[in-house]
Amino acid sequence: MPTPPGSAFLLLAARFRAHFPMKVIDHLRNAQGRTLLSFEILPPLKGKDIRSIYAGIDPLLEFKPSFINVTYHREEVIYKERGHGLLQKVRLRKRPGTIGICATIKVKYDIDTVPHLICGGFSREETEDALIEMNFLGIDNVLALRGDAIKNESHFIPERDGHAHAVDMVRQIAALNQGKYLHDEELEAAPTDLCIGAACYPEKHPEALNLNVDIAYLKQKVDAGAEYLVTQMFFDNAKYFHFVDLCREAGITVPIIPGLKPITTLKHIAFLPKTFRVDLPDAFAAELVKCRTDADVKQVGIEWAVAQSKELVERGAPCLHFYTMGRSEAVRSIAARIF
Ligand code: FAD
Repeated sequence: MPTPPGSAFLLLAARFRAHFPMKVIDHLRNAQGRTLLSFEILPPLKGKDIRSIYAGIDPLLEFKPSFINVTYHREEVIYKERGHGLLQKVRLRKRPGTIGICATIKVKYDIDTVPHLICGGFSREETEDALIEMNFLGIDNVLALRGDAIKNESHFIPERDGHAHAVDMVRQIAALNQGKYLHDEELEAAPTDLCIGAACYPEKHPEALNLNVDIAYLKQKVDAGAEYLVTQMFFDNAKYFHFVDLCREAGITVPIIPGLKPITTLKHIAFLPKTFRVDLPDAFAAELVKCRTDADVKQVGIEWAVAQSKELVERGAPCLHFYTMGRSEAVRSIAARIF
């Protein structure tokens, strides 16, 4: 549950409001055809301090990122051996602090932030509390997501009074933006003013029956109030361009920001395609299979991401959104050749 505002929190909120936060959609509109840069970071593992976040952001400051996304990580369920064959179920959150990190980044760097918020593990009341906390801290953006199933569940199970799909959260945020709180009969509450983003999948979401069905559901998120979309990582620009065409044909007119992840280690080759269900194009795969060390992979991966980025910029992508996954060195090398 979010903590009640204390005096340190109020001070932070007051300082924060002085920085005139901007919405992602306004950054995109003001760009006037220029391709922007943004990136996504992960909250540090529990027990690490905020300096690990700064160490990831500092090398990218010179490229003037328009906004920084901070992911949200659902709790994991683990079973601890308690002797005599007894197992204790323990809920563990490894990377807490998304909203606080967003507020801190905004104050320290004066860069707009986008906290991710997921349906998984949240009741509608808890979702509202998180949105109020963002609004109170002057965070004007939120990326509304469903989240994945927790590890030992076969499929996504919403909380009893939670949302089953991201579209339901988008509707809740849009309602709050109109001043409709869950129990507003008790309140004289001002509307929030959050810019809503949502996720999309050029190679379809893994659970979707097919790409067209996925896009039909995507349209519902946009109709409900999502003002822009950010794609899952992809390595084949043709798939992104095709996806954007299909979205436009389906009546989705909002900006679609490509998400890019440089492949830089042998481990990435093993887990990224499997985890995110994305295909590597033949030309890229052919180079990667020749790699023997992380250094080989890094060279190939960066060259590929540079080529992807150049083409996306040439063809008018609104923004390049990089998934840093806690490492900004490769993104820095790419950005230096694009921006
Ligand atoms: P939804 O939009 O709910 O879609 C999920 C599936 O349900 C799709 O197959 C869709 O076609 C289908 N669907 C949608 N609406 C309906 C409906 N009304 N009825 C029936 N079917 C429907 N995960 C995290 O845990 N934390 C993060 O910080 C995070 N950040 C992300 C950022 C980006 C840019 C992306 C692309 C993904 C991110 N994810 C994150 C992963 C995301 O939570 C998962 O991919 C999740 O499985 C789906 O989330 P969604 O918001 O796309 O869900």
